[in-house]
Amino acid sequence: MKDFELTDEEMQMYLHKIEIDITESCNLACVSCVRGCNIFKSDVMISLDKIRKFVDESIELNYQWERIGIMGGEPTVHPQLPEIINILYEYHVFNPSCQFWTRSNCIIPYEFPDWIEYQKNPDHSHHHAFYVSPQDVGFPMNKRACHVLYDCGLMYSHHGYLPCCNSNVHIRAFNLIDGVQSLKNVNYESMMKLCHIYCRHCGMYMMDNFESGYLLSYPVDYISETWQNALIKYNSINCRKTRV
Ligand code: SF4
Ligand code: SF4
Repeated sequence: MKDFELTDEEMQMYLHKIEIDITESCNLACVSCVRGCNIFKSDVMISLDKIRKFVDESIELNYQWERIGIMGGEPTVHPQLPEIINILYEYHVFNPSCQFWTRSNCIIPYEFPDWIEYQKNPDHSHHHAFYVSPQDVGFPMNKRACHVLYDCGLMYSHHGYLPCCNSNVHIRAFNLIDGVQSLKNVNYESMMKLCHIYCRHCGMYMMDNFESGYLLSYPVDYISETWQNALIKYNSINCRKTRV
């Protein structure tokens, strides 16, 4: 895979947008959920310590985030959402120009404070296939990572800092290494190293942008062989964990 080849301006934008996945759990199971909530099910909730670390480091390093998303899974299922918002508020006070936003399926009504843009997203009928590995369908890995990287920016989760907002499901499905643990070590090179690992099996690699690309030629519920094998393994490990 080629490097992402961003201009300096694009790189700055990429490194200053982030989505925080506060949970891997969701109260829906939409077909081809890019966060894995339909088939790679998980109840993991981010800890308050992790959120505290994110805010403290961002302030200490005077990191000027332009955009911070509070995401999941479904963010409103996190039982400590009010506490998370209180901690993030400290960054809002530190850098009022940073745009906070969240997106929810609205099943659980929640009153977000007005400094957080609340995107209500109850309609999930627009999904396309996701679990299609380029190697399974002969798609060459000879271009740069997909547009999601640049459009959505980084991700922070219980795995640390990750190169894009769909990274969590790759770690879960393929048992991959965690992300970068400190904001001090987040840079283009460290994120690209991870991208080279995560993008290998990602259907989004075959998209040109959100509306077009080779991935759209597959039915929405298509799961290619590599993902099917990962799912069998994931379910067997999680069955064993449940029985212990
Ligand atoms: S509501 Fe969103 S996070 Fe939940 S399953 Fe549907 S697409 Fe995934
Ligand atoms: S191809 Fe997948 S893993 Fe790679 S940047 Fe795009 S969404 Fe992320």
